[in-house]
This record gives sequence, structure tokens and C-alpha cells, in this order.
Amino acid sequence: MTIELNRLLFDACESVRGELATGKVASYIPALARIDANKFGAAIVTVDGATATFGDARETFSIQSISKVFALTQALNRIGDGLWQRVQHEPSGNAFNSIVQLELERGIPRNPFINAGALVVSDVLLQGQSPQSCVAALMDFLHLVADDGSIAIDEEVAQSELDTAHRNASLASFMKSFNNLEHEVSDVLQVYCRHCAIAMSCEQIARSLLFLANQGVDPLTGARIVSEQRARRINSIMMLCGHYDASGSFAFRVGLPGKSGVGGGIVVVVPGVATIAVWSPRLNASGNSHTGAAALEAIARASGWNIL
Ligand code: GLU
Repeated sequence: MTIELNRLLFDACESVRGELATGKVASYIPALARIDANKFGAAIVTVDGATATFGDARETFSIQSISKVFALTQALNRIGDGLWQRVQHEPSGNAFNSIVQLELERGIPRNPFINAGALVVSDVLLQGQSPQSCVAALMDFLHLVADDGSIAIDEEVAQSELDTAHRNASLASFMKSFNNLEHEVSDVLQVYCRHCAIAMSCEQIARSLLFLANQGVDPLTGARIVSEQRARRINSIMMLCGHYDASGSFAFRVGLPGKSGVGGGIVVVVPGVATIAVWSPRLNASGNSHTGAAALEAIARASGWNIL
């Protein structure tokens, strides 16, 4: 099984290697611009414990918005469905950091995977604790789901993002003016920027979200992470909102729930089967990894894995 899986992954990734020069590395966060743009890795972890890796699968990189899946899961575990009064679960059709819709919809973000929605999620996570202990609790959760206590925040990326978080600060202040933030904007930004700066490898990312492929239970440790219904809902939001204004075209091409980050990572869930993470830093115009999406399309085609 693992030999076949490694072969499938290798062939699919090699088939898109020619795409690697296309796209641009995110530079609006200065520390991200320093990455080697030619990195290319991928990992598949199956619910029965098999792992296949390709290229730079074991090298850590900035997971950026992939962290929004962990933060959402934690916020739902914390306050349950009450979250949906403060953030919707609709595709936005707008850029990840857009402010236009927020005015029309009176400070209630379209979904937890655009920046505005993730800032509300950070505000929820802050309830009753300092930014430091809030981030520590999120890291504890990540260590649990990844079954790996070594995962850490890249402090250089965190500081670089905080220093340049002007757009996110605007989104947060705007929502505060609509009373949709309970805490200070600076505290919310601390939590948000620090969780975006978590560094993980493809293998660690795929492993950590295996519970979403197995109805909320980590299939390798047996730990229930979320209820079956909640796992289904998180997957639904990934399907509809995981790639900003390119969510529709990603679903069209790959047919699996996923979440991208501007560090060039993308993770997808194959319910009942596996999770797959890919990494290639050059992004398309919507802020999603160009070659990462192409690799996932090739893997989905070769494996026949899709939910449609
Ligand atoms: N930390 C990034 C930001 O707030 C996340 C964006 C992304 O990964 O898509 O701009």
C-alpha cells in the first residue's frame, strides 16, 4: 500500500514540476519573501496509518491560513454553535483580506477562513485569558492533534506579520466598531498573527487533520477531537470557503475540502480515506499555491479520490 501510494504521489507531483516557476511568493509579510521559491513537498497520511512523502515533505514552513482550521476547531469546541452568530458560513467571493463586504454586512464576516472571520475566531479564543495563554492553549491542541510536541511558532514570521498587520488591524477595528470584537484589537492581532506564524511540514499538517477524515476521531490514537457533525461542518466550510475567491475553481479542479495559506501550503481532506498536504511557495492571484493546487488536482485524478 505505502509503495503504491508513494508511487502515486511521486508521479502526480513530478507531472506538475514544470509549473514550479509560475506565480509569486507572498511578499506583503517581509519574512515570507525570504523563502526559497522552488521548494516543493507533499505528504499523504491515510486513516489506517500509512504515510507517503515527496520532495520537501519534512521541511517546516509557515502554515499561515491553514492555522485557521485549528483555530476554528478550538473555537467551536469552546463556544459551540454560538460562533455562528458572529461569523457566517458562506463563501465570500472576495479576496482573503477584503473589507468591502464587512461594511455591507455590518461587521459579521462571511466565514471563518477569510481574515476578518479568523480575527473573530481569535477574539473568541481570547475569552477569559491573556493572548499568551490563549496561544499556548492553541499550541497544546495542535500538539495533541498532530501527536507531535515539537511544533512551534516561527518568531521571526510572527514579528514580521505583526509589524505589517495594517490591513488586519483595519479589519479588526472595523468589526470592533460593530461590536463584533470583545477584546482589544492589539490582543486579537497578537493571537491571530502568532497562529498564522506556526511552522509545520506537509507531513505534520496532513497528520494533524486526520481527525477530519475520520468523523472527528483521530484514527491513530483513538482520541475524539470533535463530534461527527462538527467534523462534517468543518469539512463543508473548507469545501466552500477554503481558498478565498478561488474556492469554486479549487472545488471544480480538485473536488475535495481544503485550506490554503499564503506560505504556499494547501491541505485537503479525503473523508474516510486520508489527508494530503502540499507545499510550493509561488502563489496565484488569489493567494493560493499555484503548483500545490496543480499537484492536488493530479493526485485526485490519479487516486480517484473525491467527494463528488
Ligand atoms: N497571515 C496572513 C494574513 O493575515 C494569512 C493569509 C493567508 O494565509 O491566506 O494576511
